[in-house]
Amino acid sequence: MQPRDLSAHTPYVPGRGVEEVARDLGMDPESLTKLSSNENPHGPSPAAVDVLHEYASRVHVYPKASHTDLTDRLATEWDLTPGQVWVSAGADGSLDYLSRAVLEPGDRVLVPDPGFSYYGMTARYHHGTVASYPLSKADDFAQTADRVIDAYDGERIVYVTTPHNPTGSEMPHEELIALLDRVDDHTLVVADEAYGEYSTRESAATLLNAFDNLAVTRTFSKAYGLAGLRIGYALVPSEWADVYARVNTPFAANELACRAATAALTDDGHLEKTVETARWARDYLQERLDAHTWESAGNFVLCDVGDASAVADASQRAGVIVRDCSSFGLPACIRVSTGTREGTERAVEVLNRVTREVAEA
Ligand SMILES: *Cc1c(COP(=O)(O)O)cnc(C)c1O
Repeated sequence: MQPRDLSAHTPYVPGRGVEEVARDLGMDPESLTKLSSNENPHGPSPAAVDVLHEYASRVHVYPKASHTDLTDRLATEWDLTPGQVWVSAGADGSLDYLSRAVLEPGDRVLVPDPGFSYYGMTARYHHGTVASYPLSKADDFAQTADRVIDAYDGERIVYVTTPHNPTGSEMPHEELIALLDRVDDHTLVVADEAYGEYSTRESAATLLNAFDNLAVTRTFSKAYGLAGLRIGYALVPSEWADVYARVNTPFAANELACRAATAALTDDGHLEKTVETARWARDYLQERLDAHTWESAGNFVLCDVGDASAVADASQRAGVIVRDCSSFGLPACIRVSTGTREGTERAVEVLNRVTREVAEA
């Protein structure tokens, strides 16, 4: 017996983990600086950790109140109705719910290239097909309505990542509005704001009441430091109030994740510290790395190092794990997440050295 034809499906390639690399190289995990997955170098909010301890002994019950509390809190925060907030297992879970809500078999989605691979994966899981619009190195991966519309052919979902992973570029508000105006009525534009907290721009969520073809996705994995709990959400059009109940997996997010996320939302200090460090580290990487770098609004910087795979390997052996962007179709680039001050300084020193060594080899 065989599963369905999965030949068009490609596995997600995550940044490499500390334990995995340490085991491979026979190194002490403590000696490694992981800057490959855009995680929060300060860890989770202490308020979230307290709540995890508090609720650990109560995980024998299904999450109900905790899910409602988080949804209500987010609705207040974004000035939306609770029906417009779809809590999920990571923002990836929200992408699945949007696919389920929108796609009929054979429907097409439009995704950025380079871009986040899960957009295409979730479309294929839901029997959809995938087309892409190019973001180009030549114009610093600029994101404009024209760029998207040139490739647009009536797709059911159009994905915009802002700030964009892995390049760090943003789609300005005016451009997003132009895009929303120009796509067909049946097209949902998804603004993925996984890195929204690091940007100084207004969230696309402020447009939700003006456009009925917009959804915004957000996550607790990055700025809130809760990647391991898998918790995120989508903000959806007001007309969709009864849709979530028809598409979600029962108890969409777990008890501890919902409680911790709600607590993290109250900890402004931790978020501020996180964003401040990321901005400092972004500037530091851009100023001090010898390689060409791009402006970034996220907690990472894309760098042109020539041979990404060789540089990422050498850097890892020297204790700094970065993301080789070959799998994004950028074989000359690595993506370096912003670390603590110490971690970022170490990354610059190691990357400048190994890039020189690789070039000379
Ligand atoms: C990290 C990331 C997400 C969501 O990650 P989750 O951990 O599933 O919340 C979504 N989009 C982009 C572009 C990301 O980089």
